[in-house]
Amino acid sequence: MQSWSVSSIRQFHQCSLAWFFKRIGVREEFKPVALAEGAAMHEALAHHLRGMQDGKTPTEEESIEILEGAMLGQELEGEVAYGERRGRDTILERLKGLFRHWRANLKIEGTVAGVEQELRVRLPGQTHEMLGFVDLVIDRKDGFEVCDHKVSASRRQTDELLDYHDGQKVAYTRGIELTMNRPVTSWRWSVLTKTVKPAVHEDRLEVRSEDRVAELQRLAAVVNPTVRQMEEILSGERQPVPTQAYARFCGGCPFRMACARWTGAVPQASPRALPALSP
Ligand code: SF4
Repeated sequence: MQSWSVSSIRQFHQCSLAWFFKRIGVREEFKPVALAEGAAMHEALAHHLRGMQDGKTPTEEESIEILEGAMLGQELEGEVAYGERRGRDTILERLKGLFRHWRANLKIEGTVAGVEQELRVRLPGQTHEMLGFVDLVIDRKDGFEVCDHKVSASRRQTDELLDYHDGQKVAYTRGIELTMNRPVTSWRWSVLTKTVKPAVHEDRLEVRSEDRVAELQRLAAVVNPTVRQMEEILSGERQPVPTQAYARFCGGCPFRMACARWTGAVPQASPRALPALSP
């Protein structure tokens, strides 16, 4: 493997079989609505923010057109699984309302230094290069602020002790520091919430230079063994395993048919690793 991404690590830990199906190019049966909505909204947000960066902030109508076009693009890529309760028009109207709300309440404290900033960097302690795209980098007096947009049905649940999105925060803040050669002093989750009344919840977290070493070690402790397991699966030394957290992940999985047919595969390279069965 040449590189890893935050989303591939996350998907692998949700279900290594779904990760494997995606990796080997098994056709997805449908595209979850939430995924299509998130991708379309990110395109519209990036369009607006890039305009701000260039000193030509787009009009609301222009960005709404981008949003509509992006949603159409998602539909052309694969069948979006609209439900019966909320059809396409309702979903699109709700997205437009959310975008307008975000736009009307947007406050950038500093200047836009990067939008959809590509990261290709080997972080200290990592065996492989990371590939990522950072939604927004803001240049502030005290350093950079890195911001990630999430489009969600509910506001982010914070956990001060064990943040399940910690890997993304560490990878992107430390990655930006290395590639843009300036300290990152804060990280911000900007959660666009698809509630009946649209809302944007901001969650700003301090990024401290004295935490850098420990954070990178914590990230390496997740990424390096995961990448090793991924490589073993791709080389046939190890099997992917269907998640046993069925209720959490399988309902919306686009590989349900392939999964139902999956009978496993005997690892090619490790018969010695299989335990001997008692008679
Ligand atoms: S249906 Fe469930 S177990 Fe099967 S690939 Fe999808 S997430 Fe994994």
